[in-house]
Amino acid sequence: MISELDVIRRIRQQGTLFDANLLKGVGDDCAVFVTNAVETVSLITTDTLVEGVHFDLNWHPADRLGHKAIAVNLSDIAAMGGTPRFALLSLAAPSNLALETLDLFMQGFMAALAKYNVSLIGGDTVKSDQGLVLSITLIGEMDKQQVVYRSNAKPGDQIWVSGFLGQAAAGLEICRQGHSALQRNYPELVAAHLEPIPEMALGRALANSGLISAMIDMSDGLATDLAHVCEESAVGAIVHAERLPLLPSTQQAAKSLGLDPRQLALAGGEDYRLLFTAAATANKNIQEMAHHAVGGQLHMIGEIVEGQGVFLHSGEQKDRIDFQGYDHFSPGL
Ligand SMILES: [Mg+2]
Repeated sequence: MISELDVIRRIRQQGTLFDANLLKGVGDDCAVFVTNAVETVSLITTDTLVEGVHFDLNWHPADRLGHKAIAVNLSDIAAMGGTPRFALLSLAAPSNLALETLDLFMQGFMAALAKYNVSLIGGDTVKSDQGLVLSITLIGEMDKQQVVYRSNAKPGDQIWVSGFLGQAAAGLEICRQGHSALQRNYPELVAAHLEPIPEMALGRALANSGLISAMIDMSDGLATDLAHVCEESAVGAIVHAERLPLLPSTQQAAKSLGLDPRQLALAGGEDYRLLFTAAATANKNIQEMAHHAVGGQLHMIGEIVEGQGVFLHSGEQKDRIDFQGYDHFSPGL
């Protein structure tokens, strides 16, 4: 049986990074930090991961889960263009949770915080009767003038995504099916599910460039995340099926799993790549900036149009696909 004190002590043992603006971290009712710059805004985001819904400890190594738990929050800060600063970790743990699992989780969690220069400043621990629940709040900051919202996409803008899609969904399915040959053959797909890497540098570079109009990170799949941008911006969108960025490995793995790779890209979710829009005149500058600033690969997949709805064009065929991505309250793929 573990006690709350065990859990808190183990978390506090990990210490906290030094930050000159942090007056009080773990150990009081609230964390206290100085924000005095008029032109700087704070960004706050929170995400919860539930065992059995978002992760399965049977195949998810606890240290990689620790990394993922913070990565999914970092990705939200990246999607605004900001810099992450402070994290709060709330943990609901079953009393039979192995302390080794908790230690391993904290190892991965703290390593990820250190990598992105984020300080753990507090949180809460409670008992759970039904598996492990991880809730993380992340606080970031950025220049007020450079914040990129979802709500400013304009008709005529081009739609871009960073990196490749469908990898995490393919990786999840490989793990779920316990397919050891595919696990060996496609470690990059499995890693995309177990330990996604948020696009911090790219998000910041895009926001700094002033070239883009709207941005979101892709947590629920292109069909749903693009629909959020369209709804917030009161516009529609056309995505060209042949432009969907799918790696050959994703296509091959999908074939072995009996899945449609296009469906993985549109509805799979959890890729945590960035989706953004920009005027067509910025096309060349964006490609150059991405290439030089972060060495990232960007793909232009469609355009924003007047009206509403997200449409997938494939040759003559036009399908409406908005909100056909991952839905937290309906069965998965
Ligand atoms: Mg998000």
